[in-house]
Amino acid sequence: MASKSQQLHIILIPFLAQSHIIPILDFAKLLSQRDLIITIVSTPVNSSSIQSIIDHATISSHAKINLVTVPFPSIQVGLPEGCENMDTLSSPDMATQLFAGCEMLQEPILELLSDFQLRPSAIISSNALPWTGKVACSLGIPRYAFQTICCFSMLISHNVGRMNVSQTVMSDSESFEVQNMPDKIVITKSQMPRRDSKKGGVDIRKVIQQMAEAERLTRGMVVNSFADMEPKYVEAFKNMGKKIWCIGPVSLCNQDMSDKLERGGKKGSIDGNVCLKWLDSMAPKTVIYACFGSIGRIPSAQIIETGLGLEASNRPFIWIIRKKDVSNQVEKWLEDEKFEERVKGRGLIIRGWAPQVVILSHPSVGGFITHCGWNSTVEAICAGVPMITWPMFAEQFYNEKLVVNVLKIGVGVGVETAVKMELEDEDKVFVSSMQVKEAIEQLMDDEERIKRAAELRQLATKATNDGGSSFLNITALIQDIMQQTKL
Ligand code: UDP
Repeated sequence: MASKSQQLHIILIPFLAQSHIIPILDFAKLLSQRDLIITIVSTPVNSSSIQSIIDHATISSHAKINLVTVPFPSIQVGLPEGCENMDTLSSPDMATQLFAGCEMLQEPILELLSDFQLRPSAIISSNALPWTGKVACSLGIPRYAFQTICCFSMLISHNVGRMNVSQTVMSDSESFEVQNMPDKIVITKSQMPRRDSKKGGVDIRKVIQQMAEAERLTRGMVVNSFADMEPKYVEAFKNMGKKIWCIGPVSLCNQDMSDKLERGGKKGSIDGNVCLKWLDSMAPKTVIYACFGSIGRIPSAQIIETGLGLEASNRPFIWIIRKKDVSNQVEKWLEDEKFEERVKGRGLIIRGWAPQVVILSHPSVGGFITHCGWNSTVEAICAGVPMITWPMFAEQFYNEKLVVNVLKIGVGVGVETAVKMELEDEDKVFVSSMQVKEAIEQLMDDEERIKRAAELRQLATKATNDGGSSFLNITALIQDIMQQTKL
């Protein structure tokens, strides 16, 4: 990298959710390999988990990443003290407060950045923090939006937004084709992200309006994806005159086992070595890994039904049940039915947080039951693991279309309608154990799908290696920042 770039000082601001913090930290590591000065801005509770990853990166790869912390106004916005991350919210109503708290960081962050001895050159911040555009504008520096979804799903959102479906599509279950997509994509309104959820959730309309306004103050989009995976979709944005840099998949920067184990900064609920030993004891490509991300809630009856499906598959599995989903009903069922005994030797249950990238990249894993959060999806692509898609909300149904219909590396479990982010009735079952079992059989028996997943893995690796498209896009992004700062 030219010596001039060494003077660049990039500020990274992730939204307060694991699905933003994790990839932005990976991106910080990638940028730090280019001799830039990197500063991450976060809040006390999140910073304490981020710190250990930064320390680790500093030791293992001599990364130079600073971390600065601004207090989070939990109490002021009506959240319990220390509640600073989407995954610690006990109800989705609280997401509104979390967003409000984030917005209140605008002033303190502007003050902090104005006082830096080393002048910031650019802000790269989550798409969910539109107000950072104003901060960058006040500092006279460019802002780039870090997108935590892929170009395919962004394009569906963009095109559906122009179709006026509330008027033209009568019922929620009526299928319609999304216009101006490079491939034929058919969806229903009930699969679209909920835009009306003020009560019981974030005022999504307001956030979207803010994002649209912020576009004016945003130089371009940095996307955790890679061009070879979705070339037509990247092109579609370029043709619209948008500045876009696909720089991923960022999770591939974690090559050493220790980096993978540290990733996310959350202490795993299982000793990484115990998990690895268990995986080592299984035959290649036989294990099903089931995990549903960090945010949504799953009713107890659905958890039980999922367990029964995994058991009925007769295959080895690792099943993650998040702490907030381990209800008394679930614990009682596990105990009364002696579930863990019944699947002993082939079923590993992790209650809480799993080292996902470690698991996915292990050779014994052959399939991933996923909620289609973009990070999970692209992590599976990096590992060459085909997926059983079980989308729940937000853009997850769009990601499912990419995986199943475009990339053809997944099997849908059969959900048709988005669930509410708030916990549904504890007795509600969306997917039967039979559906789970059948999807597993279908996935594991199709050689073509497995082959395509392996090919995509190679393309992802190629993109991030020296000289690959994502590697070069990081160079191009740095050059853009240099031009903007007139260095
Ligand atoms: N994750 C993890 N362990 C878990 C659950 C999630 O490491 O037990 C990580 C996962 O690897 C991914 C992120 O958390 O990087 C979840 O992001 P995603 O976009 O998939 O879903 P969300 O959490 O937003 O629903």
